[in-house]
Amino acid sequence: IDDDALRFLKKPNTSFKDIGGMDKVKEEISLKIIKPLEHADLYKAYGKKIGGGILMYGPPGCGKTHLARATAGEINANFINVGINEILDMWLGSSERNLHEIFELARKNTPCVIFIDEIDALGANRNDVNKTAGRTVINQFLSELDGIESSNDGVLIMGATNAPWYLDPAFRRPGRFDRIIFVSPPDLEAREAIYDINLKGKPCDPIDLKSLAKSSKEFSGADINAVIDVAIEKKLQESFKDGIPKPLTTKDFLKAIKQVKPSTKEW
Ligand code: ATP
Repeated sequence: IDDDALRFLKKPNTSFKDIGGMDKVKEEISLKIIKPLEHADLYKAYGKKIGGGILMYGPPGCGKTHLARATAGEINANFINVGINEILDMWLGSSERNLHEIFELARKNTPCVIFIDEIDALGANRNDVNKTAGRTVINQFLSELDGIESSNDGVLIMGATNAPWYLDPAFRRPGRFDRIIFVSPPDLEAREAIYDINLKGKPCDPIDLKSLAKSSKEFSGADINAVIDVAIEKKLQESFKDGIPKPLTTKDFLKAIKQVKPSTKEW
């Protein structure tokens, strides 16, 4: 494994408690890939097949990457985050071995979650320019996935896409990405939790989180981060005068919400 591949390996310090709402999604992830790893013998006793990966789909900024990283953190596993476009670039740039190296890296550092973003980029109707590259990478990718499934060796596979309809159907066969989970825009409760989590440790007056959540209809988690950012920037300006941090207030956030456009409308 060369140094270039090693840069992908991370040890996350987030876990499920850092994810607002999404209890259903967390439970599905747990049942599909975490429990089988922790209780392989139980599954065996009941003759229940384990293996296969999770494909998350949904609007941008709603926590797919965050969830994958937290899944690794939850079981104290390593985390490899790689985009399909990076994989395609590797193939075009250097050698076919690279995708294999990513999987090797995971196998040598188990337990390990491999998260592959933008999987739809390998879709049948994409990459017209690089059709050959695309096909080769797809085939290699499928055989790597099959390799994981048969050896059940502590490598957990998660993928994400905003456009599942572009995905090559071969990826969805049993033992590959055979569980598909919709990661929806955060509901009221989740938005409240996201504000709560992301404001921890910041100088704040008591904040009416409910009213922020209510005013943030159709906001993604990333949009909520943007709101917090806008409010903080404003507060920083005020604090420059005397160098003392002024606490953020509910009103600051309500003002900031008006300046951020919700991004999940069409979903
Ligand atoms: P993309 O499709 O653009 O890759 P994504 O679904 O992977 O988007 P993330 O990158 O996981 O989105 O989310 C963006 C940021 O929004 C995260 O870093 C996190 O801070 C915040 N966020 C999103 N959802 C949640 C959540 N449920 N709880 C806490 N933070 C969240």
